[in-house]
Amino acid sequence: MFDSLSDRLTGALKDLRGKGKLSDADIDRTCREIRLALLDADVSLPVVRGFIARIKERAKGSEVSGALNPAQQIVKIVNEELVGILGGETRRINFAKTPPTVIMLAGLQGAGKTTLAGKLSAWLKKQGHTPLLVACDLQRPGAVSQLQIVGERANTPVFAPHPGTSIGGEGELGVSAADPVEVARAGIAEARSKQHDIVIVDTAGRLGIDTELMAQAAGIRDAVQPDEILFVVDAMIGQDAVTTAEAFAEGVGFTGVVLTKLDGDARGGAALSVREVTGRPIMFASSGEKLEEFDTFHPDRMASRILGMGDVLSLIEQAEEHWDVAQAEATAAKITQGELTLEDFLEQMLMIRKMGPIGNLLGMLPGAGQMKDALSQVDDKQLDRVQAIIRGMTPAERDNPKIINASRRLRIATGSGVAVSEVNQLVDRFYDARKMMSQMSGRMGMPGGNRNNR
Ligand code: GDP
Repeated sequence: MFDSLSDRLTGALKDLRGKGKLSDADIDRTCREIRLALLDADVSLPVVRGFIARIKERAKGSEVSGALNPAQQIVKIVNEELVGILGGETRRINFAKTPPTVIMLAGLQGAGKTTLAGKLSAWLKKQGHTPLLVACDLQRPGAVSQLQIVGERANTPVFAPHPGTSIGGEGELGVSAADPVEVARAGIAEARSKQHDIVIVDTAGRLGIDTELMAQAAGIRDAVQPDEILFVVDAMIGQDAVTTAEAFAEGVGFTGVVLTKLDGDARGGAALSVREVTGRPIMFASSGEKLEEFDTFHPDRMASRILGMGDVLSLIEQAEEHWDVAQAEATAAKITQGELTLEDFLEQMLMIRKMGPIGNLLGMLPGAGQMKDALSQVDDKQLDRVQAIIRGMTPAERDNPKIINASRRLRIATGSGVAVSEVNQLVDRFYDARKMMSQMSGRMGMPGGNRNNR
């Protein structure tokens, strides 16, 4: 759904790469491109305006992180703001203290409410809940039997009026099958008596917003006092999603949003506007007709997906947390001058390893998905051995590996529990690497040079 937005945003941000310093003009140009990309994706204008204003302010402000270069800094800001408009924290269902928890579904006809009722019950069942579906869409012909089919598929019982009869037995509840409010009320009673811990109430939708629909939904709401009212909205309807959301917010009110049809190829900007416009969190996302094509909505993962970033942001955050910039810069200078020692190498390695298992770190890089096999070969145990070997050396040896003669090699190998050949290999590779790094940094003005013009 967000493919073209994603391409445009990554394109806009890519242009910044390799710039040591960003001028206000660079920031303005990037913001202009981001703005156009969002507008083309159908994100509503006030949302775009606020978004761009915040990015500009932060990018031009003094927000500087030691571990990031200016381009990374902008990416981080854009990502954080994107997570912000998508709702920030992942919002989970608020369960009632005393069951049953009542979840009411509202939205236009065709939004995907009935389909969602099935998906949500299957999802809740997996977590050990015992939901009951209640069919309160008595408007649309076939809606009740559709819910029954959905219920069967999700292996969840459905409480529904039989056509032309009343519910609850003769004279007991005396519910008219035509009154959705009564059906809802009887459904809750049924859940209590059969000990279902969750009730999902499916309501009627119309093709457009109308006052009768709103009044009926409000009536059901008052009768069942839901713990959650989920506004279900088709992400493909563009700007209408925002208008519909506003109307439902006013007419019925809701506690969370469910975006459906995220598998569609529409521009999807509506999805990016609903939360900001209504102030209600997006809680779930549906991306297909099958039961399992449904999940909790995670603003951070969605933002990451839109920015085509893999999970590089976690990597950046971990770097910020663990990276000692002064030390890294000192090492960078030594590399440039070909003076890197094994002691420096050990320190760098320890710093990187503080960020987590090496396979995980590499796995956070964009495109890592395609390199899964290669990454599974990267082994922390190998690094443990390298560390042990260096630790087995005296400070003089770490400083100047040239003095490591045959008898020293034997001592180091025995002390660190490895074969002499491994010590040889490490020392040889260290020289090769040092030579290569110094040549590279000489040619590219890296890495010290890159940081210096920040
Ligand atoms: P309701 O009127 O709100 O109850 O909507 P329905 O649940 O009947 O869904 C309307 C149509 O949208 C049906 O054909 C569903 O199969 C389809 N649908 C629902 N959710 C999704 C989704 O996430 N992706 C796709 N592609 N189709 C969906």
